[in-house]
Amino acid sequence: MIDKILIANRGEIALRIIRACNAMGIKTVAVHSTVDRNLKHVAMADESVCIGPPPAVDSYLNIPAIIAAAEVTDTSAIHPGYGFLAENADFAEQVEQSGFIFIGPRSDTIELMGDKVAAIDAMKEAGVPCVPGSGGPIEDDREENARMAREIGYPVIIKAAGGGGGRGMRVVHTEAALSNAVSMTRNEAKAAFGNDMVYMEKFLENPRHIEIQVLADQHGNAIHLGERDCSMQRRHQKVVEEAPAPGITEEQRAEIGQVCVEACQRINYRGAGTFEFLYEDGRFYFIEMNTRIQVEHPVTERITGVDLVRQQILVAAGESLNMTQDDIVLRGCAIECRINAEDPVSFMPCPGPVTQFHAPGGPGIRVDTHLYDGYVVPPNYDSMIGKLIAYGHDRTTAIQRMQGALNETLISGVKTNIPLLQRIMADRGYQAGGTNIHYLEKRLSETR
Ligand code: ADP
Repeated sequence: MIDKILIANRGEIALRIIRACNAMGIKTVAVHSTVDRNLKHVAMADESVCIGPPPAVDSYLNIPAIIAAAEVTDTSAIHPGYGFLAENADFAEQVEQSGFIFIGPRSDTIELMGDKVAAIDAMKEAGVPCVPGSGGPIEDDREENARMAREIGYPVIIKAAGGGGGRGMRVVHTEAALSNAVSMTRNEAKAAFGNDMVYMEKFLENPRHIEIQVLADQHGNAIHLGERDCSMQRRHQKVVEEAPAPGITEEQRAEIGQVCVEACQRINYRGAGTFEFLYEDGRFYFIEMNTRIQVEHPVTERITGVDLVRQQILVAAGESLNMTQDDIVLRGCAIECRINAEDPVSFMPCPGPVTQFHAPGGPGIRVDTHLYDGYVVPPNYDSMIGKLIAYGHDRTTAIQRMQGALNETLISGVKTNIPLLQRIMADRGYQAGGTNIHYLEKRLSETR
């Protein structure tokens, strides 16, 4: 059914998808911008097509160029990876209309989940617990917004319906600041996402970020693969992730997992997906659903033994899930550190040539990266250059192995955030487990 896949992405995720294809005997097509012609995924793929100049809008976001590349290479399916066009409903639709299989959910599902207001609505209907809030878009009505915020209780957060990547949000502590915050978020949202719809939620003060991985086929079967804790964040961006989440009981997991499975069935979800929740005082509050493979998928793969990218491809090919909920057993603990080419103190991106790279190894270590000696980190894309994943039969062992792996990793030429990751792994609070989403920034501000 699927004998050739075009990968509409770059970097480590492109390699990850090629590896899954190789294991399945599926041919691969890499696409790349002119600055990426020496990337590892281009060398590893069976074929490659240059789709444009370095700016992403002209290459990795260039829908006609990507579809043309699929046509000339006689591809059967397109895998979008994460980022770029992965959650672009228009792209998914054009892919399918051009006669290719889109490895992901249907375009209408992507569209529904891309509008956070509509997504929250759909989830509420499906019985998923949500953050108390406006329950729909809010207008510029000062009185009405103030009444609503009082009812929800301060602090509240104003969020863009079309927001993403941690942008388009503003916390409001007092009524005096409310209407200004609404109009500023609205203006920003319009400029950044082309959609000025905003909504209001209770701002949870000390939540953790816990997300549920799901997998659904086109025949109504769905399962969950447990949770990940992604609370270690800076500027709403994940830095370290782990599975399972410290302190979550088997009963809690089964309960929230089942809620997500039922929601998948209700919206006819297909493929891999993630339900993101804030978790506070023992309760889960849905914030959004990601309709793609996530950066942090390896931690789930490690503790469940399920190859999520392989499953995405099988589901896209129309196969029924080859496992049931009872087959999903979580074993041990896995932690992922995102390695970014950035200054560890100022966090400014640090593109440039990598003069030396040595990857770590040893028991329980997985390295997902496209780095090699001489690779030049281009300034045009995300600064993430790799991921280290450490596994242990328990969390302490996973942390110890991660510490060893971080110490062993050698990257010269560009600055990286490895010193920050080492600090996190050595931090008492992190080691104790269960820190909230503000923990990292708080620790950083204490030492500045
Ligand atoms: P994005 O699509 O930009 O990632 P999310 O809705 O997933 O936006 O929110 C990203 C992050 O913002 C969350 O992980 C959390 O840190 C913070 N956040 C979002 N909504 C709330 C809320 N109601 N209360 C507290 N923090 C929030």
